[in-house]
Amino acid sequence: MSDYPSAAPPEVLPHPRSLCHGCGAPPRYVRTKTSVFIQCPIAPMKYPPQPVARCDFFVPREPGDGASSVR
Ligand code: SF4
Repeated sequence: MSDYPSAAPPEVLPHPRSLCHGCGAPPRYVRTKTSVFIQCPIAPMKYPPQPVARCDFFVPREPGDGASSVR
């Protein structure tokens, strides 16, 4: 797996129905040559099983709170 997490969502979202995409945590996207993994910065499980349908740590994303930094 690549060590290149990004706050910027990929053009094609993995698990498009995942709750994570609308979460203000916000999730980070870890790209490999063939896959994109959703990394959570706050839930105990760093890579929650996808698609996430319900999450006790979910925080609604604020309007205009889109992609921010790339680390
Ligand atoms: S807090 Fe829950 S919904 Fe938000 S990114 Fe983490 S796992 Fe996904």
